[in-house]
Amino acid sequence: MRYASIALDIPTRALDGTFSYAVPEALAQDVAVGATVLVSFSHRLAVGYVMGVSEEAPEGVDPGRLLPVEQVLAPPAFDEASARLASWMAGEYACPLCEAVRPFLAPGQKVRVTRPSEDAPWELVCERAGAVDARWAALTPSANDYVPPRTASRQRAVIEALRQGPQRVSELSATIPGASSAVSSLARRGVVAVETRRVLRGGEGTTLSSAQAPRPDRLTAGQLAALSAIDEAREAARGDVVLVDGVTGSGKTEVYLAAIERALAAGRGALVLVPEISLTAQTVGRFRSRFGDDVAVLHSRLSAGERFDQWDLVRAGRARVVVGARSALFAPLADPGLIIIDEEHEGSYKQDKSPRYHAREVAARMAAERGCALVLGSATPSLESLRRCREGVFRDARWRRVEMPERPAGAALPRVTVVDMAEQFRGGGRSIFSAPLAEALRGVARRREKAVLMLNRRGFANFLMCRECGCVPECPHCSTALTYHERTHALVCHTCGRAWPVRAFPDPSTSCPSCGSRYLAAFGVGTQRVEDELAMLLPEGVEIIRMDADTTREKGAHQRLLERFDAAECAVLVGTQMIAKGLDFPEVTLVGVVNADTMLKLPDFRAAERTYDLLEQVAGRAGRGGRPGEVIVQTYWATHPAMRAVAAHDRAVFLDAELAERAEASYPPFSRLSNVVVWGRSERGVRAATDELARAVRERLGEAPGWEVLGPADCVKARVKDQTRRHLMVKAPVDADPGALLGACVGSLGRLRGINIAVDIDAYDML
Ligand code: ADP
Ligand code: ZN
Ligand code: ZN
Repeated sequence: MRYASIALDIPTRALDGTFSYAVPEALAQDVAVGATVLVSFSHRLAVGYVMGVSEEAPEGVDPGRLLPVEQVLAPPAFDEASARLASWMAGEYACPLCEAVRPFLAPGQKVRVTRPSEDAPWELVCERAGAVDARWAALTPSANDYVPPRTASRQRAVIEALRQGPQRVSELSATIPGASSAVSSLARRGVVAVETRRVLRGGEGTTLSSAQAPRPDRLTAGQLAALSAIDEAREAARGDVVLVDGVTGSGKTEVYLAAIERALAAGRGALVLVPEISLTAQTVGRFRSRFGDDVAVLHSRLSAGERFDQWDLVRAGRARVVVGARSALFAPLADPGLIIIDEEHEGSYKQDKSPRYHAREVAARMAAERGCALVLGSATPSLESLRRCREGVFRDARWRRVEMPERPAGAALPRVTVVDMAEQFRGGGRSIFSAPLAEALRGVARRREKAVLMLNRRGFANFLMCRECGCVPECPHCSTALTYHERTHALVCHTCGRAWPVRAFPDPSTSCPSCGSRYLAAFGVGTQRVEDELAMLLPEGVEIIRMDADTTREKGAHQRLLERFDAAECAVLVGTQMIAKGLDFPEVTLVGVVNADTMLKLPDFRAAERTYDLLEQVAGRAGRGGRPGEVIVQTYWATHPAMRAVAAHDRAVFLDAELAERAEASYPPFSRLSNVVVWGRSERGVRAATDELARAVRERLGEAPGWEVLGPADCVKARVKDQTRRHLMVKAPVDADPGALLGACVGSLGRLRGINIAVDIDAYDML
């Protein structure tokens, strides 16, 4: 007799962990780790995932009393190493085990047990975005002489259709009933050739300018150093990490390509993660042109069926290079030699719903589990990764940084000018554009070149700022910028929960607490206004293209706007931060940042880091072609280390100041910061739950050194869709396990009607 330990797909903390079932002889072959099964559980049916199989009955259980596995619903989607990883994720991120298992399942194949009402029987619902028939049919030369029998109307229809060119059999079937069998009989007669081109589905992308990536004649010294560090890490086979710290355009992607080639030659595969936004045809094209059909592409723009196809190619071992967004990390690649995370500093690697994992952290764990190397690439590495490289070791793996400070062709980095907007204001400037930016824009128009203007929209008008000195009122207790709430006319601290009526802060006036100026105003500009002022500033004949949430709502709009910009002779692209990444237009000679610092003031300890990253990325957009590039950054905070670092092309200016500040306040990377958000319709219920939770956490912690509980306080987004949101932040030492503590505390509250609780370990979104 065999026994299976099964994670039930019932996401409540009360039923967490695995349950044991007996495997009937008839199912012995099919009940394997990773399979989806049907079992009964306390008088109902439940879907479960097999986490382990053993010949011995679990200890302390009478085998005769174990219920049998009823049915196998889906073949294995993951192996034992993945099962261990899912269990680790459940503990690390304090989420139910089944939620940690779901990312490993085949896309579009969900099975659920539901019932329409409380007293109706349970029903099994299967979603089947099965493999789409990927057979292509084409006419052969003998089709010219072939005369179908008079009764074979389907054959005639198929031949007619194929005269237009080859088609998918599934597409033929959609318009010609019974096309599939007609194609088969035509194929037997040699009239039609059938070819399976499975790889095609989801593999194609739209094309932007240059998809072809020529192989460079010679790698640079930096690239070679990175490559040998990666080889070494891969051969060590224990999850060592190489951080490729290279300026934009230094050839990081080329390093990934070469490293993957070597991994493939050693008989192993590679997982490559890129941020969703830079998963463009250009990126995919570079991987495809190097590895052809060995590449599977996974991202959210594919249909469920297309995603399943690509996923299945990986499972079948027919694609050994997986390129995709965050969730591609869970693709069923049998033996990865490399896991590569490009732009590893990107916040989008943190998932914002359960399981709230960070791809970098899971990848590090996965690399150790599978004995492969983890490669992190960035022009602006996260402080977490930099610190681990400084220490050399983290969680038993070696962390090593390789620098690539130069661009291969010796292309110069653009000149960066930081303009102090407070000074402009004092000098009488009231326009969105400072004198230097206006002048530079006119220069672009004169020389018939192209410019990109970026507007920071995060943190828009959320705080009060003095237009004369740039000062923003801060909480005296937390050094967090106070957020302005228009409705109550109050300044609120979202770290400790204190609030002041605007008139009472700092004293009985609305003047600036720092310089006394009366120009204290909710501050922010929109892309529309930038576009309007630009139209007034520039002569006729300069195309202005606006790219923001409004103009990119339609599918494909993003791409179309970029193509328009690409095709234009002289143009200015105005957009939110969505334009900062991945664009590579050689003709851009000017990049302007309209308001660099709105983000700096968010009540988020990573605000400065994000600002620095963004500015550095944007600056990397200029001067990629032959002509020199120029970057102009407008700010009310010209002395901020992030601004000075970008201007000087010297990250140390930012890093030293920022690390000192983080260490001082004990923020990551010197601690682990978790955020627990509680929300619901009843404000009283939410308050009670948050208070109770805070009490439980404080009680369990006692005087534990290095731990700190902040709050409870209202969230910055204190009301969303008529629900009240409050939160609690918990700092823990770097080597602590906050997931275990918070999971237990939340569990101890039991079920609260109408109250939702999200535990976010190593949180990125504090709002
Ligand atoms: P990154 O990923 O760091 O932004 P890429 O790998 O995209 O950099 O390289 C930037 C440009 O430099 C690309 O056009 C690439 O083809 C080219 N390139 C990369 N490595 C070399 C090299 N060793 N010699 C010449 N050109 C190179
Ligand atoms: Zn002031
Ligand atoms: Zn405060």
